Formats: sequence, C-alpha cells, structure tokens
Amino acid sequence: MGGPGAADADGGRVEPRGPGIDAARILRESGALLQGHFVLSSGRHSDRYVQMAAPFQRPAVAEVLARGLAAAVRAAGVRPHVVLGPALGAIIPGYELARALGVRSIFCERALDGRFALRRGFTLAPGEPVLVCENTLTTGGSGLEAMAVVRAAGGVVAGVAVYCDRIPDPARVFDVPYVALTRLSFDSWPAEECPLCRAGGSAVKPGSRPAPVE
Ligand SMILES: [Zn+2]
Repeated sequence: MGGPGAADADGGRVEPRGPGIDAARILRESGALLQGHFVLSSGRHSDRYVQMAAPFQRPAVAEVLARGLAAAVRAAGVRPHVVLGPALGAIIPGYELARALGVRSIFCERALDGRFALRRGFTLAPGEPVLVCENTLTTGGSGLEAMAVVRAAGGVVAGVAVYCDRIPDPARVFDVPYVALTRLSFDSWPAEECPLCRAGGSAVKPGSRPAPVE
C-alpha cells in the first residue's frame, strides 16, 4: 500500500485515504482504471479514465469500499442520518455507504426538466443531516446539484463523500466537509493540445470499449 503521493503502475498520482484498505489497488484490480483516448466530462482529453461501475458489479468488493469510505466519514466527524446518491451511477454506491454507516439511503434523479429531484416518495425531515455520495467526481457539478436538492427539501448537507476523487481542489468547490476514499490524478490536455489527437487518434466518450490497464 503506497503512502500519500505514491506513484501507481500507470504513472498517476494515488493517495490512498481509506483506513485499512488500499482502494487504489482495488480499483485497479477490478478493471476501473481504463486506458485509451477519452473525452472527460470537463471536455479535456486524457489517456486514462476511471469507470466506477466496474468495482460495484461485485457486492463483496462494493462492501469493502463502502466500509472504507464509512470509516473515513466517521473519522471526519460527519454524522448523517441519510445518504443521498444521485441516479444512476451513485445509487448503489450510496446504498452501500448507507448500509456501512447504518443509516437510510435515498437517491435523486433527473426530472423531465433535466434537473435533479426527489421522487418516489422520498422526503427529508426539517434539518435532517444528509451525506451526498458520489462514486467519482471530476468537476463537482453533480455533487453541487445534489446538495441543492437536499437544501430545497429542508435537509442539511452534512458533507460530501466520494469513492474516487478527481477534483483538483475540492475545498474551492464545496462549502461542506468533503471526504474521499481515494484520489487519482491523470494527465489531461485541452483537446487542441492533445498528443493522442495529434498522432491521428480520435477520442471516445466513456462507455465505448477501452482496454483495461494491464
Ligand atoms: Zn485527444
């Protein structure tokens, strides 16, 4: 298990933060770290991508990751009554985190107007502390949207918890406690400066079929 700033096999900076587990190794071994030529959500291009659906295919792996993140949440002094994971990607990660914390689990989803909303009878008590959970965040935008849903429903955002942090400077994005299980940073470039494009390649949106990192 590497220490903070240890380089992983792919040359990316990896900072395991979950007490007792090597989340970066679990992500690598579960096929979450992809190699290819990608357009990231920021619009930048990269030769790496994190597919967080990979580890959550396996309940036993999900349980280990969730316990690690729950321990980090407790260590940060965050005490939610509810975990909220935005649909679709964070429903299962949020549910597993709620189970590890012993609290309720709900999710928000896109309504017809494209905005996140609580549906299916989900409600929050006035002032109820809610932990927003994401599997990965690269810009923080969806986390901020989910926080707005919590506040509009009368809840209090106790914090944001993410399994795989890709945000360069989360303290500038969130005004609540922010807990990450692991942090990965890869090289990325503006599209017009992308060396892979210059070599004649074309970038794909994740969801295609990039090859797992060896
Ligand atoms: Zn490119």
